[in-house]
Amino acid sequence: MYHKVSEGREWGLTTTTPTQFKAQVEALAHLGFTFSRIQEYKTAEDQIFMTFDDGYACIKEHAAPILDAIGGVATVFAITNYVGKKNSWDYFSESKQVDHMNWSELRELHEMGWEIGSHGCSHRRLLNLDDKNIKQELRTSKKELEDKLGAQVTTFCPPFNAWNSDLLSQIEQAGYTRVAISYPLNGLPKWSGMFIPRLGVYLHDALPLFLGKIFANPFSPIQVLQQQLINLAGDGNILENWLKPPLR
Ligand SMILES: [Zn+2]
Repeated sequence: MYHKVSEGREWGLTTTTPTQFKAQVEALAHLGFTFSRIQEYKTAEDQIFMTFDDGYACIKEHAAPILDAIGGVATVFAITNYVGKKNSWDYFSESKQVDHMNWSELRELHEMGWEIGSHGCSHRRLLNLDDKNIKQELRTSKKELEDKLGAQVTTFCPPFNAWNSDLLSQIEQAGYTRVAISYPLNGLPKWSGMFIPRLGVYLHDALPLFLGKIFANPFSPIQVLQQQLINLAGDGNILENWLKPPLR
């Protein structure tokens, strides 16, 4: 699970530099892995499923060419109300606003073989919303992506990794068959769809740490602790979203 791949000033914990990213991709390719989309997700030991949350323009600019060079593809989770706009939904990034991909960039990625999944319309924490708004976030984002890209959208990524059993059934009713979530996983509930559990990659992940993450047991205490700290601090997003009413 990546967010930004960038050299820019918008550096944060959730940024990976293009140099780091290239080294990570090349190391995995060298080890014989191929890179695929969540649509094809299965428990396969020789495949890597990279995902990029929020649909930042830097992914098209930096990550896509690096993956393309080794014949790899990935999945990006777009926020439909912010396509072509700055990340004003991210309170802590106001001083360092970052561009989201526009529709033609998303379409180009799709044509390169990437999967474009939904991350909702507004990046609000869905558990804070009433049923009507949840339905709208799930269905409107799906329909807009499908209309604009001419492809089926079957993967949903809940903003802030905030989800529960009720939300899972709403996700299913909206027509999604896969949900991308983050470690740590504290026991997964029953769901007819497929869970895509992800490990976050962050700025401080040097190559050995990155490879360790891939090959180590993701439930090891250090991994769980790290992910919990990141979930708490992250870009400040999650904490912020819990403390304040959602920003429009
Ligand atoms: Zn997000």
